[in-house]
Amino acid sequence: MGGRCYAGAAGAGRGRRRASQPGGGTAITGIDSLLAEFQLVGAELRAAGLVSSHGGNLSAWTPEGTLISGEGAMLGRLRAEDLCLIGRTTRPPATDPALDAPIHRAAYALSEARVLLHAHPPYAVALTFDRNALVPLDTEGRMLLGSVPVLAHARDIVRQVGEALAERPAVLVRGHGCYARGGDLGEALRHATQLEESARLLVLRQQLSRGPAAPRPAPSS
Ligand SMILES: [Zn+2]
Repeated sequence: MGGRCYAGAAGAGRGRRRASQPGGGTAITGIDSLLAEFQLVGAELRAAGLVSSHGGNLSAWTPEGTLISGEGAMLGRLRAEDLCLIGRTTRPPATDPALDAPIHRAAYALSEARVLLHAHPPYAVALTFDRNALVPLDTEGRMLLGSVPVLAHARDIVRQVGEALAERPAVLVRGHGCYARGGDLGEALRHATQLEESARLLVLRQQLSRGPAAPRPAPSS
């Protein structure tokens, strides 16, 4: 599958459907509003510390194909040229799509996802090393996410993530990060930030349940 990047596509024609793209090829319905959504959610993820400067990726399903951020793109500073369309074309991509592109496509094929977000939330990832599911203690997390499966890296991780997202709005991969789906990027962001908040509460709860450190006996003289 080829792809193309959208350098220069977000200038003129803001807010209306574009009939064609610079250089020909497939037009994306609502590319300008999608770019604005990508920029807003990317900046939120970066500000919340859920991705490093060049980590994570975002995508959206469109009738023309999967619009996805490029490999190593800075989510906090996304530009039009950082987005790639992976569609039914043999044209080579102008920008390399994120390496996670197969996972995004599996999510669209196997679940009701319309957008997918991948991030590296530190508290949630820290908790993946010793469990097979992250079960929120807090009411909001339980209602919004339920039990979040923790998958191990494997040859069939693409299928595993896609199938898990058919059942749940978010899934974790051990020692790596989360994939959160939604009807739009705002909903996916809500799932990802809720996951990290629930993980932080789990860690706080663990720390509090240990209680204060026992005082050390005074050294004998
Ligand atoms: Zn990652």
